[in-house]
Amino acid sequence: MNHPIYLDNHATTRVDDRVLAAMLPYFTEQYGNASSRQHEYGWIAEAAVEHARGDVAGLVGADKDEIVFTSGATESINLALKGLAEACGPRKNHLVTSVTEHRAVLDTCDRLEDAGFSVTRLPVDRFGMVDPEAVRSAITEKTFAVSIMAANNEIGTLAPVRSIGDICRSRGVLFHTDATQAAATIPLDVHTMGIDLLSMSGHKMYGPKGIGALYVRNGVRVIAQMDGGGHERGRRSGTLNVPAIVGFGIAASLAASEGQRDAACICALRDHFVALLQSGLDGITVNGHPVERLATNASLTFEGVKADRLMMAVKRVAMSSGSACSTASPEPSHVLRAIGLKGDALIGTVRFGLGRFTTTEEIETAAELLVEGVNHQREHQRTVAVTSF
Ligand SMILES: *Cc1c(COP(=O)(O)O)cnc(C)c1O
Repeated sequence: MNHPIYLDNHATTRVDDRVLAAMLPYFTEQYGNASSRQHEYGWIAEAAVEHARGDVAGLVGADKDEIVFTSGATESINLALKGLAEACGPRKNHLVTSVTEHRAVLDTCDRLEDAGFSVTRLPVDRFGMVDPEAVRSAITEKTFAVSIMAANNEIGTLAPVRSIGDICRSRGVLFHTDATQAAATIPLDVHTMGIDLLSMSGHKMYGPKGIGALYVRNGVRVIAQMDGGGHERGRRSGTLNVPAIVGFGIAASLAASEGQRDAACICALRDHFVALLQSGLDGITVNGHPVERLATNASLTFEGVKADRLMMAVKRVAMSSGSACSTASPEPSHVLRAIGLKGDALIGTVRFGLGRFTTTEEIETAAELLVEGVNHQREHQRTVAVTSF
């Protein structure tokens, strides 16, 4: 048993055994198409999908028919922003978002700009927090929507969702939130938080990959971005991924019943982990908001360390520099830049993501290995510095 210790739960999470068990029959005995109306295979698949839809809706306080199943949060975000833009433009052609959003939001905004829409990207403070008053000031009579993520995937900062929702509601502007990282552990209620659209993803909450959902408040119109058989009440065509939807439903109901307990345990582990590192090493900065943050996240800057080299040296710990989603493009993280990190701090930052299955033993071993790895690299750096004289 020498698997690396998994501390990259922001990139993806392990499928919970209870989720997998619920999915399996839908690959084998119950393989019907949920749109087949003429036989029992179809009816069973459809019933399973509708049950899952209720569980996913329940997690965020929505109604069942406000949930559209997609292939993941990237697709949900594309459907939300492009679908609204198409429904509202050209009369309303302005969108407000923030600089620390996931690339799925930022790249979609770039695409909308290419198509003639205008986008305001609000800055964040040094903790990664968006000021709700800045959202208020950015809204014009042309604004059709505001999109602000509920929890950041690199530094874990939680947005003041309720305040932003109140502002949007009072200005008659639609509010979309990317809740992909928040859904597993942060209680969300679309009604009290004033959320009109919300994106989430199965694989960030102990469900399978390739399944996600977009909540669209009843009465809000989004233009489908995928045309075909008119599935999902015309909002997203394509044969439903029944096993994944069933798994996502279980993952959502587990998040509803266990998410807050998970958060408390994971938070204690995370604090233990950071304390162990800080007792073994100096020159560590914790990024993100000190209080308003995900329990699962520790974004740490190690003075005098190159994250990439640390990861190569400490292969027994699976961690990430910046965000895994942007490893296709090697530039330093836009989120770390946005909170003011520069130069060595940018390349010396590691993101740790704990999860439901992280154990105390793993945390203690990982901390030990990291202290050793950091000390080794700093030692080496000093030797190089001395011998180069
Ligand atoms: C992972 C992630 C996404 C993309 O989700 P997929 O389901 O992988 O497409 C979007 N936003 C945030 C904040 C994420 O962490």
